Amino acid sequence: MKAAVWHGKRDVRVETVPDPVIQEPNDIIIRVTSSGICGSDLHLYEVLGPFIDAGDVLGHEPMGVVTEVGRSISNVRPGDRVVVPFNVACGTCYLCRLGLPTQCETTQVREHGKGAALLGYTKLYGQVAGGQAEYLRVPQAQFGPIPVPEGPPDDRFVYLSDVLPTAWQAVEYAAIPTGGSVAVLGWGRSATCAPGWRGCAVPSW
Ligand SMILES: [Zn+2]
Ligand SMILES: [Zn+2]
Repeated sequence: MKAAVWHGKRDVRVETVPDPVIQEPNDIIIRVTSSGICGSDLHLYEVLGPFIDAGDVLGHEPMGVVTEVGRSISNVRPGDRVVVPFNVACGTCYLCRLGLPTQCETTQVREHGKGAALLGYTKLYGQVAGGQAEYLRVPQAQFGPIPVPEGPPDDRFVYLSDVLPTAWQAVEYAAIPTGGSVAVLGWGRSATCAPGWRGCAVPSW
């Protein structure tokens, strides 16, 4: 398959890599139909290089169609259209049950003092191959993938992976009242969330 592959600082290439395969009973494979480019990916392009290996596949905001499921997966099946959240979480550990899947105890990267593993986001977050690729292995798929209906285009759904929940969390934590005004500083998801702006979503190859 083709994928966006990290090679060094400011050196990301689209090249051919091995297709992902089921490794654990609770994995699924999806054929990626859309995949976001995140403001957080800029960190990989620049300063987080020491934590990436040449050959790592980037991308953590994918959606697509399930092509294969591990033997313990019953919540989705081949042919289902799904959005995949960027964080890899089990859904059943203490912190997941508290509603904190970004700190999932099953996938926590303890050697780096980080929370849950993330798709396509360095050794600090588990070095899981990412979704800026034609196919993606989704670990802990009994919890993460969100089925979405057929019909509407991908850009109606792809923001459910990271952009929308991240923005929602910021608004929620800031306790902005209905009709309140906010100042948004800097680049990244806030810009990609503006109404009508579709800069985050890119078509699949
Ligand atoms: Zn993101
Ligand atoms: Zn968990």
